[in-house]
Amino acid sequence: MKSNRITALLGIEIPIFQAGMIWCSGWRLASAVSNAGGLGILGAGSMYPDVLKEHIAKTQAATQKPFAVNLPLLYPNIEEHIQTCIAMKVPIVVTSAGSPRIYTARLKAAGIKVMHVVASSAFALKAQEAGVDAVIAEGYEAGGHNGREETTSMVLVPLVCDAVDLPVVAAGGIGDGRAMAAAFALGAEAVQVGSRFVASLESSAHPRFKEAVLGAQEGGTTLTLKELAPVRLIKNPFYDKIQKAYAQGADTEALRALLGRGRAKRGMFEGDLTEGELEIGQVSALLRSVPSAAEIVHSMYHEALQRIKELNAKS
Ligand code: NDP
Ligand code: NDP
Repeated sequence: MKSNRITALLGIEIPIFQAGMIWCSGWRLASAVSNAGGLGILGAGSMYPDVLKEHIAKTQAATQKPFAVNLPLLYPNIEEHIQTCIAMKVPIVVTSAGSPRIYTARLKAAGIKVMHVVASSAFALKAQEAGVDAVIAEGYEAGGHNGREETTSMVLVPLVCDAVDLPVVAAGGIGDGRAMAAAFALGAEAVQVGSRFVASLESSAHPRFKEAVLGAQEGGTTLTLKELAPVRLIKNPFYDKIQKAYAQGADTEALRALLGRGRAKRGMFEGDLTEGELEIGQVSALLRSVPSAAEIVHSMYHEALQRIKELNAKS
């Protein structure tokens, strides 16, 4: 587990990525995860170009270890973000929500390692053809933006492992060492973890959002708004409005108007639990505490190793 294609490719010690999450993963979280031996990832989807520059500079000052930037490719100023990553010598970029064909070659020509997030084996093949170094297979359980086809991580990860020759990182539904061990059993060579790190000390999520994540019960999240961009969120009063709109036969335009602008910021960064959009994964039902990022990385890794040892001993 310690030494594999992903740890060798990226120069990290522990194959645990902290997902790039809008409003939650700034430089404090990313540098803490990288300093703990995992891969910290800045969530650039919510950062204006100058804010991303500030967060990259602060990350570089806070850690000597590799870190990454997540670029959702539908971000309005994507070209500026790409230029920033190249100019500031970001070592690793994770692209998502768009075609890997457009930017992969340019990023790689600048010496940047590139990974792309996929929700199907067909997209994994496209990413491989585009020349990425690894794919991140993210299943239905994950929070935030998600695939339309609802393929769960348990099914998606082996499908993607069979489809591509590249190393595969498993994401979606992974919040502890048990799930990490399961992901490795499915063929993954690293895990990408989101929700568990939202409820960490260094996350930039609003304290009220962290509380809401801890309070989320089994069945407390749902994947909705497929007509716009499918997103998994907590069933809060804002979600009740979405459900009511669906019941009244709302079309795409009406849903877009209801969503409006900046809902995710309102919910996750400003802590408006009533009117905000609260993006989190199903695994929130398992979360009970707000530890430091280093505690999360180390406890998850050691639990995974322990699980594998126990399974070996039983077989
Ligand atoms: P600052 O260092 O200016 O911090 C702003 C204030 O928030 C400070 O009082 C700081 O405390 C406190 N703070 C911020 N994050 C945390 C945390 N995780 N735990 C405890 N205290 C915290 O800003 P940052 O360097 O944090 O961020 C730079 C800018 O980026 C800010 O404008 C911020 O709002 C924004 N940002 C944007 C994100 C996005 O996704 N768009 C994500 C995170 C931040 P202290 O005095 O101890 O430093
Ligand atoms: P909205 O259109 O509702 O709002 C845009 C938000 O992004 C605002 O809060 C705005 O901050 C902030 N923002 C940062 N940079 C820019 C920019 N250059 N132009 C306009 N707004 C900017 O979008 P969402 O909040 O739903 O999503 C924001 C981004 O995050 C998108 O790029 C989207 O692709 C990505 N995203 C990624 C997800 C994931 O799971 N990876 C999940 C959801 C979104 P302010 O309010 O301060 O103006």
